[in-house]
Amino acid sequence: MALVIHSGIVVTGDEARPVLWNSAVAIIAGRIVGLGPSEDVLARYAGAEQISAHGKIVTSGLANCHAHLSRIHGRGVMDDQNAPNTSPFSRAGFLRMPKISSSERDVFLRLAVLEAIKSGTTAIMEVGSGLEAYAGLLGSTGLRFFLAEQVSDRPAGAIVGDGKALTFDSLQTDASLQRIRALHERHNGVYDGRVHVAAAAHAPDMASPELFGGLVGLQDELGLLATVHLSQYWGEVRAIEATFGVSPPQHLQKLGYLREGVVAVHCRCTTPEDDEVIAHSGASVCYTPAVSARSGNSCRVMDLEAAGAKICLGTDEFTQDMFETVRTALLLERVRLGDSMRPQSEHVWRWGAQSGYAVLGISDAGAIRAGNIADLIMVDASAAHLAPNIRPAANLVHHARAGDVTDVMVDGRWIMRDRKVLVLDEESIVHEAEEIGRRAWSRAVETAPPGTRAPSGIYFGA
Ligand SMILES: [Zn+2]
Repeated sequence: MALVIHSGIVVTGDEARPVLWNSAVAIIAGRIVGLGPSEDVLARYAGAEQISAHGKIVTSGLANCHAHLSRIHGRGVMDDQNAPNTSPFSRAGFLRMPKISSSERDVFLRLAVLEAIKSGTTAIMEVGSGLEAYAGLLGSTGLRFFLAEQVSDRPAGAIVGDGKALTFDSLQTDASLQRIRALHERHNGVYDGRVHVAAAAHAPDMASPELFGGLVGLQDELGLLATVHLSQYWGEVRAIEATFGVSPPQHLQKLGYLREGVVAVHCRCTTPEDDEVIAHSGASVCYTPAVSARSGNSCRVMDLEAAGAKICLGTDEFTQDMFETVRTALLLERVRLGDSMRPQSEHVWRWGAQSGYAVLGISDAGAIRAGNIADLIMVDASAAHLAPNIRPAANLVHHARAGDVTDVMVDGRWIMRDRKVLVLDEESIVHEAEEIGRRAWSRAVETAPPGTRAPSGIYFGA
């Protein structure tokens, strides 16, 4: 059955024809098959189901290339407890994330997926440990997922960072690789191919050289996408220098881990020489601007791109809002560069859409183009904050809000229509998450060890 979305403002993502006014997109079997003036497309697909996009922008969905959905309950507290940028680097004394049960975690996972869908996300790389426990839940939501099982062989509770050499636990090395292999066997390619399994080394200071070596072998054997938090904290940099005598990017390059098919996340505590290593390695860089800004540092993203790195965007922790992420990416980089013009909005949107999909290994998505997978969104362009809508591609980045997204389609299937998420019960999930979150955080505050520095203003209500 064909579907024609007509009378819309199509922001294609293509440089040659960026905006098509009063245009239509035809979709058959999950693919975009036609694109052009509404009258022409409607005539060509005369028997198709028709949906009007009058007053709306039709554009590609966004690819969030680095998320931790299972940590969403940290929001509002953890955002103001970031790792120090100077010694001592320890986070001892911070209020810790509360432990929650697996059923409580599932409520928060659904909450995170809701937020992702409502902010125009169509693909997510979820990084977490023990994904086997919730791979099915995520797959069943209809979103496109890359499930990156995060592994580490650092002994639990080991303190990172003030010039001490790192130690590792070899018992965890093989078990880590086995966990990825098992997840791959059970979940790779399920849900009509929308779920992919990937490998995630936690970070250079959280995985031994042996584990990185094992991951390189596993990646080659199974053809996996891989990822790693890289140069995320200055404490990590000092620990790798103290243990291996080089910087984290140099360390991973020596181990053969930094290469094509690897998404290096953050890359914000680096030297220009490190950036050269990263950019020439073939690895892609996931820029996480909101969490970077919160941490008071940022990667040199335009420099990395100019030196050859492919760029994508990620929300990281405590939010799934890709609209905020795209806008922050532009704003933070202009501040860092001291440049009033660079990067331009269309360029940053491409990081979030087309380039993000390409980094995830999907070259036929992220733009509205005949032949591409129908992962797309509609955005209400009639709101006060979007008039005049004479440069819609720029409006999407500078002025549109997640709340303007009205419809989301993945693989040709609607998962949100007219702001209603069709695959999850929003009202009950938000209600439950609120209850569980209050209970869990209140327990965490009550049982915090003496001397814990909780951020100000935590209030549990009556
Ligand atoms: Zn992360």
